[in-house]
Amino acid sequence: MTVVLPSPAEPGHFLLAEKLIFAALLIASVALFWRRFGPVLRRILESKKDPDFRLAPVSGRVRDFVWEVMLQARVIRERPLPGFAHALVFWAFCAFALVTVNHCAVIFGSGFLDPNGIAGRFYFCFAAAFAVACAAGILGLFLRRFFVRPRWLGPLSRESGLIALLIFLLMVTYLAAFFVSAASPAARALWWAHTLTLLFFLPVIPHTKHLHLVLSPFAVFLSRGGFSRIPPLAGDEDFGLVAGRDLTQLASLQAYSCVECGRCTEHCPASNTGKILNPKQVVLGLRAYLNEYGPKSEEPLIGRHESQEAIFKCTTCGACEYQCPVGIEHLPIIVGLRRGAVNTGEWQDSHGAKLFLALERGSNALGLSASERDRFVEKNALPIYDGTQEYCLWLGCMGGYDPKGREIILSLVRVMNHLGVTFGVLRKEKCTGDPVRRLGNDLVFQQLAESNLEALKSSNTRKIVSICPHCVRTIQEDWKEFGAPPPVEHHSEFLARYASRLPPAQDRKKIVFHDPCYLGRYRGVYDEPRAVAALAGQVVDPERSRERSFCCGAGGGLAFLGEETGERVSHARAKELTATGAQVVGAACPFCNTMFRDALAAQGPGAPELLDIAQLAAQGLPKNDPI
Ligand code: SF4
Ligand code: SF4
Repeated sequence: MTVVLPSPAEPGHFLLAEKLIFAALLIASVALFWRRFGPVLRRILESKKDPDFRLAPVSGRVRDFVWEVMLQARVIRERPLPGFAHALVFWAFCAFALVTVNHCAVIFGSGFLDPNGIAGRFYFCFAAAFAVACAAGILGLFLRRFFVRPRWLGPLSRESGLIALLIFLLMVTYLAAFFVSAASPAARALWWAHTLTLLFFLPVIPHTKHLHLVLSPFAVFLSRGGFSRIPPLAGDEDFGLVAGRDLTQLASLQAYSCVECGRCTEHCPASNTGKILNPKQVVLGLRAYLNEYGPKSEEPLIGRHESQEAIFKCTTCGACEYQCPVGIEHLPIIVGLRRGAVNTGEWQDSHGAKLFLALERGSNALGLSASERDRFVEKNALPIYDGTQEYCLWLGCMGGYDPKGREIILSLVRVMNHLGVTFGVLRKEKCTGDPVRRLGNDLVFQQLAESNLEALKSSNTRKIVSICPHCVRTIQEDWKEFGAPPPVEHHSEFLARYASRLPPAQDRKKIVFHDPCYLGRYRGVYDEPRAVAALAGQVVDPERSRERSFCCGAGGGLAFLGEETGERVSHARAKELTATGAQVVGAACPFCNTMFRDALAAQGPGAPELLDIAQLAAQGLPKNDPI
């Protein structure tokens, strides 16, 4: 028995009047689309070129495009059910591209998908399957938006309802044509219903957030790449994002690509603890600025559409970038605005000024004398790196000056000695510049980076190990602007390699591990610190962990900016960690450590103990091992 695939009914012929009406409506629809899309495109193209943009290597861009756009992987990964519903709509749009062109060509007798041929029938049925899936998907998204209404989506939007209705009508009018005969008036009525919906839909796109249908594939393909990477300044005349003239093409493209889904805000630690910062509004603020002033304006960016207070509440945790389904890079925008505020002297903050001065004149972010570090090194007989040892042990500000940071260093030293791994510390070491870099003070950052690079070069450093993920990131990525730093790794990576040679602790405890943002999301290191912590007990995860870990509140220079407004981020996170019932909080960053120290103390007696993974790794060592 031969199965004949069905096909949608197409009217056999069209009157001249119908053709003229269709042509006029098509021109009007395209013109209305262009009336809004043209200025948007012009604003993007008239923006400043991104100084560090390179198209090559294209293979990575193609891979991201296929993964994130064609397969909708990021959309589905973070919100599986609504993400899959969205993917069904997107895939239907792709499948319908050919059907739509054919549909418009039919009126002029130029249809190329033959409803009576095998290939044509197959494709029509293929599109019909997607039409059913799309109708179900859009219905699901409509119900979620209008009845479930997660607060991150913002106020109810009538335009979303209109778009959902139009997509639903497009699918239904296509499917209904399978059930009528070509000669019936119903076939003609359905053809026109589908066409009119289509011609109405086209100009609606650029007037709504559905502009992302057109722009987001470009935003994903052209993104800077590299997680939360801060682009270098273009030269002495580049002060960061001060006015519209400083907005780059990528920033403008991303501003218009935002789909307003609110995922960034949903995961932002600042937004979650009552701060004024809302990463979605930062992006939409740029869009509003471009709409009002354009990309060549001298009007300050911080003002009507961007808040200075908000951008200095960012911990640079990267949760927003990680979540964004259309590849928007929030950090270059936020740090760019901070640069603008710092370089023009608009940002006046007594804690910030103290930090900048401490790092301009001294060596560490804690504002202590460098001799404090010298005394710590001498007292503990830490060897000086002379180029012969395997590792240069980077102390960092916390390891060199903070009492708890020093304890972490000494535990790591014990483990290195036990393993027989040779190491030494630099005679003179300065802050890597992480807090000033992220607060927007590039001048001081450059001084610190260059001075440290010189010290490492003159001591012939081959490899660095550090207890601080912020130091690791800054050395490996940010210093590259000023030289070639030696390879650097975090102590979790180092310790995990040697875990099998370390004796496990006798007294095993339940340990909840907190993923530091700069180790997890920034560096993609998740398993190694858990493997190290497992030497001291059973490792459990808090509710938000790994890629979705919740920040401790210290990053982006905020550890040095004084009291927080609203609930403290560290306190919110400490509650999640304690809720696991663990006896120990395992940390892998001295900044997390310092934030949780206060937060856990505030919980009173019975709060879990706080230990770094180096301290956990050292627990099983023989008591008489030297430090
Ligand atoms: S980097 Fe973190 S703190 Fe900053 S806006 Fe994004 S999510 Fe919020
Ligand atoms: S910036 Fe990205 S994550 Fe945030 S609302 Fe826009 S599209 Fe969604």
